[in-house]
Amino acid sequence: MCGIVGYVGARDATPIIYEGLRRLEYRGYDSAGLAVIQGESIAIRRDAGKLTCLGSLLEAEPVHGTIGIGHTRWATHGEPTARNAHPHMGATGEVVVVHNGIVENFLTLRDELISEGVTLNSETDTEIIVHLVERYLAMGEDLASAARKAIGHLDGAHGIVLLSTREPDRIVAARLGNAGGVVIGVGEGESYLASDIPAILEHTRQMAFLEPEQMAVVTRDGFEVQTLDGQRVEAEIQ
Ligand code: GLU
Repeated sequence: MCGIVGYVGARDATPIIYEGLRRLEYRGYDSAGLAVIQGESIAIRRDAGKLTCLGSLLEAEPVHGTIGIGHTRWATHGEPTARNAHPHMGATGEVVVVHNGIVENFLTLRDELISEGVTLNSETDTEIIVHLVERYLAMGEDLASAARKAIGHLDGAHGIVLLSTREPDRIVAARLGNAGGVVIGVGEGESYLASDIPAILEHTRQMAFLEPEQMAVVTRDGFEVQTLDGQRVEAEIQ
């Protein structure tokens, strides 16, 4: 269970996410990556090895956007390669996910998706999540409800964070059980997400914590929390 960082605001998300991931390095990891919405599309940079490898990649091939998500991975399904590093993108190119945890019914869900004609691009359990989200987006759901329906298929404990060009102003996050936390940081016209407080502590001290079986929609202007069965929750800012 490694690190997650997200940002939505007016500033360049890339250095904020990279620095946040650096502050989570103490947790250990084997690869790292980030995705931002750059113009109209999602740009991903990811690499195996130390965060400095991702740093060099970002120097060689920079990406910029005001919304993004990043991850340091500790591989459970699939080798620690660049292809298996998070974020994982779906087939439409419209959605990306980062994920802490293990999809315990991965094999069943993988076979189900393959029989629906989905092509998997990695060996990870995580990639399943983004294809499930796309399945429900294709049925006309919005990102939050597509995420809720997708997450309903997953066994195990998870921290999940999603981004989509369909709704480029928001990050959707969910916590199931205990695969590390999901922390939301509140700023002035900007919001943060992380698996752990140190990732975002330099930016804000106002934070809200998801309980297990809760999800959040996070925008520049704030956030809303719901239970996974769709009940609105008044989350306390601490
Ligand atoms: N199970 C996922 C993977 O192997 C996530 C691992 C993690 O928590 O970093 O990619």
